[in-house]
Amino acid sequence: MSAGSFRLYIGGEWRDAAGGQRFEVTNPATGEVVATVPDAGAEDARAAIEAAHGAFAGWSSLPAHVRARYMRKVYDLIVRNVERLARVLTEENGKPLAEARGEVLNGAEYLNWYAEETRRVYGEVIPSSSRRTRIWVLRQPVGVVAAITPWNFPSSMVTRKIAPALAAGCTVVLKPAEQTPLSALLIAEIIQEAGLPPGVVNVVTTRDPAAVGREFLSNQLVRKISFTGSTEVGKYLAQGAAAQMKRVSMELGGHAPFIVFEDADLDAAVQGAVISKFRNAGQTCICANRIYVQESVADAFAERLVEAVRRLRVGNGLEDGTSVGPLIDEAAFIKVEEHVSDARRRGARVLTGGHRMSGPAFDRGFFYAPTLLDQVSDDMRIVREETFGPVAPIMTFRNEDEVIRRANDTNYGLAAYIFTRNLGRTVRVSEALEYGMVAVNDSLLAVPQAPFGGIKESGVGREGGRHGLDDYLEYKYLSVVLDG
Ligand code: ADP
Repeated sequence: MSAGSFRLYIGGEWRDAAGGQRFEVTNPATGEVVATVPDAGAEDARAAIEAAHGAFAGWSSLPAHVRARYMRKVYDLIVRNVERLARVLTEENGKPLAEARGEVLNGAEYLNWYAEETRRVYGEVIPSSSRRTRIWVLRQPVGVVAAITPWNFPSSMVTRKIAPALAAGCTVVLKPAEQTPLSALLIAEIIQEAGLPPGVVNVVTTRDPAAVGREFLSNQLVRKISFTGSTEVGKYLAQGAAAQMKRVSMELGGHAPFIVFEDADLDAAVQGAVISKFRNAGQTCICANRIYVQESVADAFAERLVEAVRRLRVGNGLEDGTSVGPLIDEAAFIKVEEHVSDARRRGARVLTGGHRMSGPAFDRGFFYAPTLLDQVSDDMRIVREETFGPVAPIMTFRNEDEVIRRANDTNYGLAAYIFTRNLGRTVRVSEALEYGMVAVNDSLLAVPQAPFGGIKESGVGREGGRHGLDDYLEYKYLSVVLDG
């Protein structure tokens, strides 16, 4: 297969879309075409679902250690091919190469971790109400999983879904985002090389996600939808899945508060804010979106953060030393510009950034300068909505009760960050925050052994940990009356 022209992976074979259409994948840093991929429709999705269904009985009945061996093989091959995978990831997504490498390796760890966990899908024996009866509980895979992944982590979102699904004994049809389908196709190549039985993992790329999505929802063979993306599309898919009571896992938007108390290690808080806000150019669902700083340390914190942000280097992710790449596309860029201009109009002050990057290195991509705003008020769009860009509003607060109330004043509930050295405060505040994850003096949350996920409109279900495996398993309860 040539690097620039990919095909669908269905039933262990590489195929063109039934309609013969293809579409281009472009580099958001340069506008250049990186590759073309098939533009699949409902018919291709159906073929992939049927292939996954055909593979289910065989895959789910393999002994756990055999499934684990396949998964470890995939892990090993991803690690061996990290440079190629990272480069393609940067070309399609724009993030700095070092971040891309980190993503590929972190994502691969889910395969490693779930390869171990697949041996621990234990059932239960429950005391029954009579001498002659036994109650046994089995854990069985839900069946064919349709997985839909976003463009902000083109590699790790794929492995984060495939790993627990395969460990549980499920088979998968994956639809990656139209902006970044290449990482998923490279992972499919690796899955083929690792010798997984045909149909266990299938990949369909499309620029018409609605058509493929409708097939996922309406096809009776699909028993679970696992989605990561916007809250809007997540709600649509969850409603659609309800018609056949398909299981759903939803990792949706976030609007993370990042709270710095006066007793915090300010340098650690500044470093945490830079990592949390500017990683992937601010395009992650757990990015610090609202920075709240206690009044007495607000000036000192802002001063140090401005300094740190000015040191960030914006550029093409393939170039050495780049710390912030471009935004994914024009729509993303326009949203960031609108949030900043709305904040300015309502009285926010720009501490640094606040503009498009200009010059020959930037003119063909969607580069926005890392931006900090202060004198921000709660009515601004940037405080009400997820920004998904390299812009952070800084606000001040007086006390715990006030900041907890303001932090919780959103329909989202994914990640929250607090910086404090006081144990009592750590416990009080983290228990009161209405979020699925709270990072205390920390800025990175996605690890294979922990349950990543949100509450409220940020989603349902968890990815990672034994909790993530539960989401791909059903209980079956057997009531057995002994004869004789
Ligand atoms: P974003 O706004 O960040 O691109 P989306 O929720 O639109 O987030 O996209 C996340 C994933 O959902 C992508 O793979 C995209 O193709 C897919 N998607 C978007 N709309 C639909 C839909 N109607 N049905 C199924 N998948 C969809």
